[in-house]
Amino acid sequence: MFTLRKIVVFCYILLLGVLLFKLVRTQTNQESQCGTEFCTATAAKEINALINQKTESKNTMIFKIQVVYGSVEIKDLSENKIDDEIKKLNQLFAVSKIKFILNKRRLIKKTNLSIDEFYFNTTEKEKYIAKLEKNYINLIFVKKGDDYSGFTAIPKTSFLRYLALENSFNNIFISANLEYPLGTIAHEFGHFFGLQHTFGSNLESYSTKEKTELNNCNTEGDFICDTPPDNNTGAFSNCDIVIKLDGNNIEKDFEYPPVLNFMSYSPNKCRTEFTPMQYSLMEKFALTYRKRLIMANY
Ligand SMILES: [Zn+2]
Repeated sequence: MFTLRKIVVFCYILLLGVLLFKLVRTQTNQESQCGTEFCTATAAKEINALINQKTESKNTMIFKIQVVYGSVEIKDLSENKIDDEIKKLNQLFAVSKIKFILNKRRLIKKTNLSIDEFYFNTTEKEKYIAKLEKNYINLIFVKKGDDYSGFTAIPKTSFLRYLALENSFNNIFISANLEYPLGTIAHEFGHFFGLQHTFGSNLESYSTKEKTELNNCNTEGDFICDTPPDNNTGAFSNCDIVIKLDGNNIEKDFEYPPVLNFMSYSPNKCRTEFTPMQYSLMEKFALTYRKRLIMANY
């Protein structure tokens, strides 16, 4: 009798353990992601050239951010958090000698469109941003969608277009009410300053052409050699790497993807770091292709 009770208790504990384990390990590859497009081969050459350049910024480069809210409700929900988020962003980007200053005036430009709708409807997007600031970075918070947490419009063929006085490429769209906004905001600012996704142009798992030997790291993946080849297998909600135990590639799979990197597709809360080469590229990119938006140096 006593033993039976013991077995029953043991089974209960086991069941509870399994349930808890499942809960923690819920895979979050369904999390909404970034819609920023990959650059073309010509723009990739510009990135390569920058990586190989020795130039660096003598001073801290100051950029002004204009926060735009899609509705009063979004403003009410997000306004208190934005100062904190920018503070964290400034701590991160200080390594690249980039500093952000928030314009005190927050803009409400009403729209019913969600972030997905802005992403898919270029005409509506251009209409929305037409009258926004040309010399600031517009950080636009709009209604949540199903697919995207954020996106940054990039000129696909050449980053030289960033130098023209136009409005298309100084806007970052962010979904309202994100649980871990920094994971998305820092990721999008990474794109804004020339970074690509760590897995490269194809988001399908195991599609990266970057080799583990790192002998083609400057032409494949994100062109950056201190970010490991990213198999983009996603991560569990506790930031554990998802691995495919298919026998042959176990060692390789154990190493990747770079779950903590801001430019990976791991869950927002797991993304906490840029690598030294990513920082270096962002600094050179800001100095070269984003110089039109530099308000001041100090
Ligand atoms: Zn992205």
